[in-house]
Amino acid sequence: MGKIVIIGCGGVASVAIQKCAGNAEIFEEICIASRTREKCDALKEKLEGHTKAVITTARVDADKREEVVALLRKEQPQAVLNLALPYQDLIIMEACLECGVHYIDTANYEAEDTMDPTWREVYEKRCKEAGFTAYFDYSWQWAFRERYREAGLTALLGSGFDPGVTGVFSAYALKHYFDEIHYIDILDCNGGDHGYPFATNFNPEINLREVSANGSYWENGHWVETKPMEIKREYDFDRVGKKDMYLLHHEEIESLAQNIPGIKRIRFFMTFGQSYLTHMKCLENVGMLSTVPVLYEGREIVPIQFLKALLPDPASLGPRTVGKTNIGCIYTGVKDGKEKSIYIYNVCDHQDCYREVGSQAISYTTGVPAMIGAMLVMNGTWKKPGVYNVEEFDPDPFMEALNRFGLPWVVEENPVMVD
Ligand code: NDP
Repeated sequence: MGKIVIIGCGGVASVAIQKCAGNAEIFEEICIASRTREKCDALKEKLEGHTKAVITTARVDADKREEVVALLRKEQPQAVLNLALPYQDLIIMEACLECGVHYIDTANYEAEDTMDPTWREVYEKRCKEAGFTAYFDYSWQWAFRERYREAGLTALLGSGFDPGVTGVFSAYALKHYFDEIHYIDILDCNGGDHGYPFATNFNPEINLREVSANGSYWENGHWVETKPMEIKREYDFDRVGKKDMYLLHHEEIESLAQNIPGIKRIRFFMTFGQSYLTHMKCLENVGMLSTVPVLYEGREIVPIQFLKALLPDPASLGPRTVGKTNIGCIYTGVKDGKEKSIYIYNVCDHQDCYREVGSQAISYTTGVPAMIGAMLVMNGTWKKPGVYNVEEFDPDPFMEALNRFGLPWVVEENPVMVD
């Protein structure tokens, strides 16, 4: 079918690359690129002899548009799968436009320097107008809609698990189970244990910024903001058991609020153990989660980046993590005039993922849908000029692919509700 450039070679990218390599009919050529070429080469080595796809590597700093443009001009791919950090989204989207290449990512744009005055001005205006204070929102990427449409290119935003599969589940529920959906609760449960007192399952900087921020949910046409971890519930998850979960702001709430007609409320809950929360609070209290550089012995360091260097690399958690994840959505709405509720979810086992691809389930549950999104854009099934979130496409081919590529899902009627 064609060639893809994958930017990033971290935990999520490692899974997506292996899944692309296992699907060589679509991904005939794969170029892996990041700032550290040796890491890309190591992935290439791992795959050689196990795939029909031609794998190449390159060095690129995706903070520099000219470097991404040069890479795309040289490689001439059909699509870029952006699995670097949310900070690089806008530059990679610009470069794709300039080179006539489709774009897929798993996380929406976030500013790396939240003290930058130009960014701050837009951010503060948005906080006032939209009513939520997260450092990320879709406005920056949705602003590319017209230009992608005119260029005849597809940008598929948020094709991970959450965002990603949660949006596809929503489109599927609406298509097959409801005339109208009124309430969505997204429940992200990680029942895994890696044995460390404190570690994050994906990029620590992105993870800790997300978790330490204010929570928020969508209700009756507007955002309701909460203090961090203010709303707590307990839920008994299939194949995991009872866990405490906390309401967070999460990016798919923003797109689902626009794309699910008649929606009244959308909430997002994530499970955390007490040890994680106590460590995080302590690190926050001493300033270790700050993104503002401090001068240390004549050198500027960013506290959260220094913390990242101390914490276990998420990619190294694979062999030691046991247990399962259970991620899904509970929907309540009406069908033929009657109220009903369903729960669509996937259960994924950390050790099964490790045996298959050498990674834990958080990277797996993100990397597999990233490959599927890229596949559907590359093979034309989800090719539509413009910038789209996953729930704006027909969910059926994605749902079928989830079953086929390792993330089978179940639909449970009349689930236990979250109060
Ligand atoms: P990692 O930190 O493990 O990997 C990030 C990768 O990005 C590294 O390989 C790094 O390589 C590369 N990178 C960073 N900066 C640049 C740059 N300037 N230019 C080129 N490459 C760069 O992160 P994860 O794999 O855990 O996460 C990847 C993405 O997936 C993140 O955006 C994260 O938010 C998202 N995610 C989405 C989820 C979802 O469900 N939707 C869930 C989990 C994660 P190098 O240092 O060599 O440049």
